[in-house]
Amino acid sequence: MGWTLGIETTAHTLSFGLVDDNGVPYPAASDTLRPDEGGIHPREAADHHKDVAAHLFETALQQHQLQPSDICAVAYSQGPGLGPCLRVGAAIARGLATRMDVPLIGVNHCVAHIEIGRQQCGCDDPVLLYVSGGNTQVIARLNGRYRVLGETLDIGIGNMLDKFARNQGIPFPGGPKIEQLANEFLAENPSPSMEGLELPYAVRGMDLAFSGLLTAAQRLIDNGASLNAVCWSLQEHAFASCVEVAERAMAHTGKSELLLGGGVACNQRMRTMCDEMAGDREGASFAPPRMYCIDNGTMIALLGWLELQHRETSLDESAIDQYLRTDQTPIAWS
Ligand code: AMP
Ligand code: MG
Repeated sequence: MGWTLGIETTAHTLSFGLVDDNGVPYPAASDTLRPDEGGIHPREAADHHKDVAAHLFETALQQHQLQPSDICAVAYSQGPGLGPCLRVGAAIARGLATRMDVPLIGVNHCVAHIEIGRQQCGCDDPVLLYVSGGNTQVIARLNGRYRVLGETLDIGIGNMLDKFARNQGIPFPGGPKIEQLANEFLAENPSPSMEGLELPYAVRGMDLAFSGLLTAAQRLIDNGASLNAVCWSLQEHAFASCVEVAERAMAHTGKSELLLGGGVACNQRMRTMCDEMAGDREGASFAPPRMYCIDNGTMIALLGWLELQHRETSLDESAIDQYLRTDQTPIAWS
């Protein structure tokens, strides 16, 4: 036995993480491409990952005083994500597994967010509110698979925040800065009113849609509303819609635990709203440490470790799948 390496490359972050032979997670070494302007260009992100991979892999091993020979398995994100980025990760994984002659396992990125959350928070059977840059999904385990009960019909909530921020000249990632400006607004307006700051409703049945919110928030700015006030309103509206769908999912499935995952789960206001909702239902809300909310190689290593007890990925089956769905992965572990 030895360590399982996890390689994460679904989007703008390249990350190498590790779990030990008991599946205990260790912090990852990560490097994120931050475009000076515009969104992520998949090919530029892939080039970035290629450029920094060798050095980052060394850092990941060194920070835990490990040698390549300590690695007994290689896990990688097989999908979903940006094709060029996923291909770089899969190529690194194949190369390392072949060179070190250890098992290879391709795993589902969304499922990895759930499993690191369960492991970190000690929750058992949660509804997951997965709020990241590209994804916004409400997921629950039913009949041996994680099922998507609701999701965004257009852009991910993080992309919406990042785009709004970019239009105001705030560089990527915009989410943390929006949180800061919203907090400044609250510090100056302890009992704020939504009057004049209303935005459209993002809930569509069990699904969500954020592009209308983005346009309307921009219109408030164009009509002279203060940036801090609009950041506050945007957070309140966007997060409330996610929490509403998550609450309905808990009611439908009869589950009492809520788990947050994805980069937007770093947001304290989002965490508080989830705590309040779960508390009202006499349930509980959990959020992993921030380093395990954002994309990280450790969650890939953990899911690889769990799945390797049941299967491995041959080179023939190791191609990436940009559109891999959360419910395509049978849950063989407990
Ligand atoms: P991920 O796609 O899971 O790697 O997460 C990246 C996304 O999380 C980006 O869209 C960020 O803007 C967003 N994000 C990170 N921190 C925060 C925060 N504190 N509040 C809101 N969004 C955040
Ligand atoms: Mg993610």
